[in-house]
Amino acid sequence: MTRTSGREHHRVIVVGTGFAGIGMAIRLRERGITDFVVLERAGDIGGTWRDNTYPGAACDVPSHLYSFSFALNPAWSRSFSGQQEIWDYLQRCTDAYGVRPHLRLHHEVLDASWDHDARRWHVRTNRGGLTADILVTGTGALSEPSTPDIPGLESFQGSVFHSAQWDHSHDLSGRRVAVIGTGASAIQFVPEIQPEVESLTVFQRTPPWVIPRLDRDLTGAEKALYRAAPRLQQLVRAAIYWARESYVLGFSFNRRLMKAAELIARRQLRRQVPDEAVRATLTPDYTIGCKRILISSDYYPAIMKSNVDVVTSGITEIGPRSVCTGDGAEREVDTIIFGTGFHVTDMPVASRIRGREGRCLAETWADSAQAHRGTTVAGFPNLFMLVGPNTGLGHTSMVYMIESQVSYVLDALRHLERSGAAAVEARLPAQVAYNESVQERMRDTVWTTGGCASWYLDARGRNTTLWPSFSWQFRRATRRFEPAEYVEHERVPEHAAA
Ligand code: NAP
Repeated sequence: MTRTSGREHHRVIVVGTGFAGIGMAIRLRERGITDFVVLERAGDIGGTWRDNTYPGAACDVPSHLYSFSFALNPAWSRSFSGQQEIWDYLQRCTDAYGVRPHLRLHHEVLDASWDHDARRWHVRTNRGGLTADILVTGTGALSEPSTPDIPGLESFQGSVFHSAQWDHSHDLSGRRVAVIGTGASAIQFVPEIQPEVESLTVFQRTPPWVIPRLDRDLTGAEKALYRAAPRLQQLVRAAIYWARESYVLGFSFNRRLMKAAELIARRQLRRQVPDEAVRATLTPDYTIGCKRILISSDYYPAIMKSNVDVVTSGITEIGPRSVCTGDGAEREVDTIIFGTGFHVTDMPVASRIRGREGRCLAETWADSAQAHRGTTVAGFPNLFMLVGPNTGLGHTSMVYMIESQVSYVLDALRHLERSGAAAVEARLPAQVAYNESVQERMRDTVWTTGGCASWYLDARGRNTTLWPSFSWQFRRATRRFEPAEYVEHERVPEHAAA
């Protein structure tokens, strides 16, 4: 750390402390780069695994795969870990790899702007300003809860909260509860709260495809084995990885291969929902995989309980104690829980980062978000976005994508050191060509042609969220920082002399 004009200056500022921010910090230290801070707006680390504490919150990627490749956890208690266990794991990594002293908790980034004369980022936080040569964002795609603007919502006199901001002080027992949304979060908490509440009305706009969750406790013997033979856990992880990669064949290449998954989903639906009329309302009319495939073995059984209703008529208005729908019905409720997802394609951080010409990312992306290799953006020197555009996945672990990007960033830093340049900036033609190839590959995928609307698509209908192919292909695309794809900005004289 140095001080220039009274400001604290670092080689790198990392924003966010989810898997992305913590993973970046660990690898920076491993590379011997210690002049960095990690800014976090909340009072603790953890990102989505800190915030999503709703009952039943768990990962739908198997535990052995959902971890850093360099820090396998032989102690996972279940095949699909719960929120607390994953959060604990991230806390342990933060300590074990020496990241804790770099953390600046309660530091919300208000804006960050590139000062081209000084070749550095000015980062303004609620606790004052800092500068850095390099800015790495790890703010995640699922960090800003999205609550629909329903007429009358402000007049509601009961309790209202979003699944990502669960109100644990609100006792649900004996309540008449409305759940809005039937996505990955809702199908996890609905079975948990159903036994407690007096009545549960689930407002479904689009039914999801749901396949069984083959979850189980991992035995003491398995854990002991993994502890004694880490290579074995690596092998299990690899087997899970390649099994999951095979989904891409159906998603991206041959739709007929999705038929098997659809049959599995239909069979579960048939077995768990005997009532034909109810089953019809729960049956999707789009190709499986178009929206995220959900995994649950207890969602439909919960829906079938006598205190649960599924309403498919659209919500028109919320009254002081009720939810009104397009069919003219008004249902009395005293609690509303939004399971309505996140701001993904319109993420707020995009309006807080300003590049070389003073424009913010949101303005630059007014047409559509795009980044070079999902990580860098023309006009934004030395900005690296972890989980940037077209890096999301529908089938496997995001930690794999994050680790790919982190290696790419480290390679860029290595290049900066070797070349002596102050900054690198993606060349626009390289970025455009890369994104054209991504969109070309996206054209025939299930997310584009599967007949559904999803949060993967932006306002123009472009999928700027997902990576359209095998995750190992993304790793290959980010394996090496290619200087020819970048403009190098020379050091300013006083910095060159320093
Ligand atoms: P989501 O998948 O975006 O689901 C949102 C739900 O709310 C959908 O059913 C959506 O309906 C509905 N909705 C949105 N706006 C609405 C409105 N105005 N009126 C009525 N319904 C509305 O959100 P999420 O469940 O929070 O999950 C988000 C993502 O987080 C997941 O896709 C996944 O990537 C991740 N996640 C993962 C896990 C896990 O690993 N198990 C758990 C939770 C979340 P439509 O379908 O019609 O849009």
